[in-house]
Amino acid sequence: MSLYFIFTVDGDWDEYFSPKLSEAQRKPNKKTLLNLIKREINVARSINGKILHFVHASSVARDFFLQPDFAALWKKIESHGGSVGVHCHSEGLYREGCLCDPEKMEKAVSSLSEGLKREGLTPISYRGGYLTFCEKNIPILEKNGLLFDFSCEPDRFLWHEGELVCDWRGAPNNYYRVSYKDHRKPGKSNVIEVPLGKSERNALYIDTTSLKGLWNTARALAKRDKEESGDMIVSILTHTYEFSSFQKLFKIRSALSICKRYGTFISDKEALEIINRTEGKQNI
Ligand SMILES: [Zn+2]
Repeated sequence: MSLYFIFTVDGDWDEYFSPKLSEAQRKPNKKTLLNLIKREINVARSINGKILHFVHASSVARDFFLQPDFAALWKKIESHGGSVGVHCHSEGLYREGCLCDPEKMEKAVSSLSEGLKREGLTPISYRGGYLTFCEKNIPILEKNGLLFDFSCEPDRFLWHEGELVCDWRGAPNNYYRVSYKDHRKPGKSNVIEVPLGKSERNALYIDTTSLKGLWNTARALAKRDKEESGDMIVSILTHTYEFSSFQKLFKIRSALSICKRYGTFISDKEALEIINRTEGKQNI
């Protein structure tokens, strides 16, 4: 059938990932971030504006990205055919941890989701910080109208201070409706998982994969798509801080061109239409 890509950008900045810095030093710089996000919009023009920017919220920058200057850019992304999603760094790394505390998690997700909606935006997608996720998050996403989760990189797992904060071992390589009992298995919740595109060794993770690896992955996905009966929908991932230099921009643009040879870029809303159509046909 068809291979679809969703181009996702996590709205993080370098200093956030330096736990040795003080809370104040880890805060984002407004001017720098505005410029980087403008570059994201510019790069996404090569794929008809189909970017999904995940807006960051954490203890370091709670409402920072809901300021009017940023909200104007989120509106621009939506008006060009893209979307914004909810990206909560509440995973337990460094100073804040509430992944397994549904009450705190709910506050973090609702606060950002509602803040975006107040600006007239329509977020329907979620991604956990460090690709963390667990079943307890499913009802929280449902309650906030977040119909997609993008936290899955099949087979990834991550330990932090003796706790398994991310576990995607055995998860499918194509989109699936998540089980309430196990986020790595297909089931009947209202949340659809869109995994990161992955072939045997490489993932469509622009920051950490060579262009050759990205090419091999896109080609392997296209081959697998031909063998499968239904459509394939996967994500391709980078971060806002990767838009900082000419070399990195070149790599992002090249990665998008490579994927365009093998599939079609769509928005999360278009993915929802495709999935609803497929599920509708299956239910007849
Ligand atoms: Zn992040």
